[in-house]
Amino acid sequence: MAKNIWVFCEQRDGEIQSVAFELLGVARELAAKTGEKVGALLLGSGVEKKAKDLVAFGADEVYVVDDKNLGYYVTEPYAQAVYSLVKEYEPNVLLFGATSIGRDLAPRLSARLKTGLTADCTKLENDEDGNLFMTRPAFGGNLFATIVCPNHRPQMSTVRPGVMQKLEPDYARKGEVINKTVKFDASKFAVKVVEEVMETQSVDKIEDANILVSCGRGVKDVAPAFEFATKVKGTVSSSRALVDAGIMEQPRQVGQTGKTVRPQAYIAFGISGAIQHLAGMEESEFIIAVNTDKGAPIFKVANLGIVADAQAVLKQLNKIL
Ligand SMILES: Cc1cc2nc3c(=O)[nH]c(=O)nc-3n(C[C@H](O)[C@H](O)[C@H](O)COP(=O)(O)OP(=O)(O)OC[C@H]3O[C@@H](n4cnc5c(N)ncnc54)[C@H](O)[C@@H]3O)c2cc1C
Repeated sequence: MAKNIWVFCEQRDGEIQSVAFELLGVARELAAKTGEKVGALLLGSGVEKKAKDLVAFGADEVYVVDDKNLGYYVTEPYAQAVYSLVKEYEPNVLLFGATSIGRDLAPRLSARLKTGLTADCTKLENDEDGNLFMTRPAFGGNLFATIVCPNHRPQMSTVRPGVMQKLEPDYARKGEVINKTVKFDASKFAVKVVEEVMETQSVDKIEDANILVSCGRGVKDVAPAFEFATKVKGTVSSSRALVDAGIMEQPRQVGQTGKTVRPQAYIAFGISGAIQHLAGMEESEFIIAVNTDKGAPIFKVANLGIVADAQAVLKQLNKIL
């Protein structure tokens, strides 16, 4: 019988991605209900030393496949490696980050494993029998659908970075590291990496920021928002309205079709709070909203609301700071 909750722990250049730790956090919660173990899959070349971090963040078992075929992420070798582990150990649940890698690998595997996949989940819950309830936005974000996969295993899901909460790492935690070798079928490797060109980061990463100064259509001039962000050591993010208008770059967009963020402070200037925007920021620790319309939906999720002109508030804040 399928058992245990597995997380595909994405690494890039040997660095475990934050979403892997977040997924281990939710996997621990799920495992507490069923008494299952949390398994972490660590694939790559020269990555074994990272297994202890996965244990510290909640894994009971780390399955390591350290192989030069897995040096760069390429779909086929990664799919073969995960497939062979799943076939051998039959996990009940298999979770991926909804990153470019997770979104590529998870559907390939679900097809090969002949099971379902729920993409871009915002909530995962389970019952004592290990059935997973996977909730995700549907119909343009206007409602949330909870999806179950009762007849096939593993139950598979991708979860966006920033949605789940990682545990505080505990390096005293004990876990087992299981080194595995995979017999690859290289005749199926249709893609070969010939060169790697690193993109230079031109826009700040909003998902890593502690303070986000977020601008919406109500902000007519975004320059004071950048000045304010610099003063509070924050980063500027945006609603889709300003991205569509060509005023902000797409990587700054928060929301359903942008990024999910969870900063310590999210300061929304001139953002109405459409459901698609809220989906990306409502888990922020402290939300401040500035809007001229006291009925704006953003105030429903705000810890502190200021009914005022965004430009005037920004001007005043910059003056004080
Ligand atoms: C499938 C789909 C996916 C989407 N994905 C996203 C997404 O990822 N992210 C996203 O943000 N949106 C997304 N949207 C768009 C979303 O529905 C809204 O249209 C968008 O969020 C609105 O942006 P806004 O709040 O900046 O603009 P508006 O809704 O136009 O709101 C502007 C606000 O500014 C206020 N205002 C006006 N003047 C001032 C002033 N001087 N001072 C202070 N406040 C002022 C107004 O009262 C108003 O509340 C999506 C839509 C769909 C259909």
